[in-house]
Amino acid sequence: MSDETWRTGRCWLCDAPDIPIAWLGPVHSATFGAAPLHACAPCVDRLEQRICDHHARADQAA
Ligand SMILES: [Zn+2]
Repeated sequence: MSDETWRTGRCWLCDAPDIPIAWLGPVHSATFGAAPLHACAPCVDRLEQRICDHHARADQAA
C-alpha cells in the first residue's frame, strides 16, 4: 500500500486510537448505510491473509 494511503486515526477493526490507518473501502450497515472502513497495518495484514485463504479455498472448490 502506498504512503499516501495512510493517515492517523482510530482503527475500525481493533479500535486502537491515533495510529496509521488505511482506507480499505466502503462497509455497509443495514441500519446506517455505507461508511468508509479504515484499519491499521496489523488488521490490514490479517484481512489480506483472509482474502488469500478465501481465494485458495475457492480454487480448491473449482
Ligand atoms: Zn487494527
